[in-house]
Amino acid sequence: MDELYCAGCGVKIQTNDPNALGYAPTSALQHDPVVCQRCFRLAHYNEIQDVSLTGDDFLNMLSRISEKDALVVYLVDLFDIAGSWVPGLQRFVGNNPVLLVGNKQDLFPKSTNPNKLISWMRRSAHEQGLKPVDVVLMSAAKNHGLDDVASCIDYYRKGRDVYVVGTTNVGKSTFINHLIQQLGSGDSVITTSKFPGTTLDFIAIPLDDDRNLYDTPGVVNDHQVAHFVETRDYKKIMPGKEVKPKVFQLNENQTLFLGGLARIDYIGPAKRSLIVYAAGSLLIHRTKMEQADDLYERQLGRLLAPPSEGTSLPAMVRYDFRTDEPDSDVVFSGLGWITIKGKGARVSAYAPKGIGVSLRPSII
Ligand code: GDP
Repeated sequence: MDELYCAGCGVKIQTNDPNALGYAPTSALQHDPVVCQRCFRLAHYNEIQDVSLTGDDFLNMLSRISEKDALVVYLVDLFDIAGSWVPGLQRFVGNNPVLLVGNKQDLFPKSTNPNKLISWMRRSAHEQGLKPVDVVLMSAAKNHGLDDVASCIDYYRKGRDVYVVGTTNVGKSTFINHLIQQLGSGDSVITTSKFPGTTLDFIAIPLDDDRNLYDTPGVVNDHQVAHFVETRDYKKIMPGKEVKPKVFQLNENQTLFLGGLARIDYIGPAKRSLIVYAAGSLLIHRTKMEQADDLYERQLGRLLAPPSEGTSLPAMVRYDFRTDEPDSDVVFSGLGWITIKGKGARVSAYAPKGIGVSLRPSII
C-alpha cells in the first residue's frame, strides 16, 4: 500500500491499531480524501478521541510546547496520582506556567476535605519538581467543577494559548469534549492543526480572543495500575462511583490484603482501626502476618483477587511507615487508600513494583 496521509491532520494513515495515531478502518481507504478516524469523529460528531504516544515522541511534543508562550493545563487522576505524573514535565515545558488539575474528585467520599486534597497534590507536585501556579479539582465525567477550571484557565492564560496535557486515562478526552459542548461549536469551528515540524496533530478549540486551547496526545505511563492487569480486572479495581469506607479493628501483627494487589501489615502497638477506601469489588482479606507470605503464594488470583488467576505481577515491594499525624492515609495509587487512626502506628505496605505507595495526612 502506498503511504497515505490524513487530509485533516496530516498524520500517516495506518489500519492496524485503532488506539494509535493515524488509524483508519480499511473501508475508509476507498474514500477520497482519506481522513483518520480521529478527524472523522471530530468532523462528524464534534467529539475528540483519545490518542496516545510513547516515551520519546511524547517528550518531543512537550519540548515543542516549551518553544511557545502558553499556559500548560496538566490533568492528573486524583485516584492514581503517582500513575499520572509525567516525570520532568516542568523541565520539558520550559518557563510556561503549569495549572495542575486533579480529575475524578467524585470517587472520593463526600466528607473529603478538598483543601487537604489540594495540599497533598501540591506536595506531591513539589516532590516531582513541579511548581504549579495553582491547583484545582474537578469531575469531568460528572460535569462538576468545570466552570471553576474554565475560569482558572482564563485567569492564568493572560491572553495566551493553552495546551492540555496528561497521561492516558486521566479523563482528558472527557474534559475536552465537555469544553467543546459548552462552546456549542458547529463542526467548522474546531480544527485539527499540525504542529510545525512534526506529524503530531493537535485539536484546536478556538477561545474568544483568536487564541486556541489545544488537546495534545496522551502518554502511556507504565506506572498506572491499568498496565498491570487485564481490562476486565481493571474494571473491578477502578471504582465507578464514590468509594465507601470499610472499617477493620486490627490486633498487632495482623495483615489486610486488597485483592492480590496491595497488602498492609499492622505491626503495632496495641489494637487499632484501619479504614479501607477502595472499589467494592476489590476483595479484602484479613490474616495473621506470619501467614501472609504463604497465603499470597497460594491464593493470588483466587482468594486474593483481582487480579484474575494466572496474571503475572511484578514482585511486591515493601514500604515501612510510622504515623505521626492524628490520622494518616497509606495511599496505593490507582487502588485506593487505608486510613490509620492515631499517631505512632507502625505498618508495612506492599504493592507490585511500579505502583506508587505513599503516606499523607488523612483527607477525611
Ligand atoms: P483520557 O485517556 O485521558 O482521554 O481519558 P478518558 O476521558 O478516556 O477517561 C478515562 C476513563 O476515566 C473513562 O473510563 C472515563 O469514563 C473515566 N473518567 C473520566 N473523567 C472522570 C471523572 O471525572 N470521574 C470518574 N469517576 N471517571 C472519569
